Amino acid sequence: MSKVRLITTGGTIASSRQKGTDRVVANVSGAELRSRLHDPLDGIDIEVDDFCSVGSFAFDLPLAFSLARHIDMVLADESCDGVVVTHGTDTMEESCYMADLLVRSDKPVVFTGAQRHAGDPDTDGPRNIAEAIRVAAAPQARGLGAVVVFEQDIHAGRDVTKAHTSRVDTFRSNAYGKLGEVDGEDVVIHRRPAQRFHVDAQKVVPEVELMKLAMGNSPAFLEFAVAQGARAIVIEAFGRGNAPNGFAEAIAPIVDGGTPVIVASRCHEGRTRAIYGGGSGGKDLADAGVIFSGDLSGLKARILASVLLGREAGTERFRRDFERAASVPAS
Ligand code: ASP
Repeated sequence: MSKVRLITTGGTIASSRQKGTDRVVANVSGAELRSRLHDPLDGIDIEVDDFCSVGSFAFDLPLAFSLARHIDMVLADESCDGVVVTHGTDTMEESCYMADLLVRSDKPVVFTGAQRHAGDPDTDGPRNIAEAIRVAAAPQARGLGAVVVFEQDIHAGRDVTKAHTSRVDTFRSNAYGKLGEVDGEDVVIHRRPAQRFHVDAQKVVPEVELMKLAMGNSPAFLEFAVAQGARAIVIEAFGRGNAPNGFAEAIAPIVDGGTPVIVASRCHEGRTRAIYGGGSGGKDLADAGVIFSGDLSGLKARILASVLLGREAGTERFRRDFERAASVPAS
């Protein structure tokens, strides 16, 4: 008999229409979710663990950090073979990547959710939970890191992103593709992630801001963010990592003042690389002291920065480990 812990956090999967209102809210307990499964999941013992009950749009970094620590503690119990976390889809990729960075065990950590709420006659929740439980109980899913299981597909926490606002097959791993799939009772793994990184952090630093760049926009937000207490800033820049005029000049004093500025790309696929001059091209941003985030999206770069800052290990080690986790050659 394998043993899987079902950790619930709320989200659409655990939501239904609130009586007398037009709102869908997180109001379904873990025990109810468990009782609504159609798949008997023979040979798997499921232990329900209600962690919190919120829409994932209400998650913040300290809550995602304590969730990752909780998963770590649960998996330290030898009798537990894996965990499933039910979570809203809106920010699932962020909590999943944080768990991927922090959890020490190689046992399966499987995030899942639903696009159609628990009161919807056509909810996708029970099937996603059952498939996630099969992955959490599967020995072949060990060592994959934290994953998202949704609509049969298994995605790496580092790569996965929510791609569609409402369709049930919303998750994608863009350029890299999924790791495997659930086919009935079978869990099939096609490939294993080579880009994993562990962070030993005792706390998270939530003051990491993210700015998406648009043609001709102003760097004033960067100064505002620093004045508000930002400890790092991620910018989702153009293409290979280029910005509108004025950004390099605004970034240099921020980096000199000890606040890391990280450059991701607003493209969904590919890597950053310093190539261009011309004002605030990648070479100019590199001269200003930015850290490039390789193929890590802005969202994932922000999660990585928040846990690396939590070690209070100094800016040089922050840069070195960020570049290693993002597999960027050291600058
Ligand atoms: N639409 C969201 C969900 O899928 C709401 C949330 O993220 O909590 O759960």
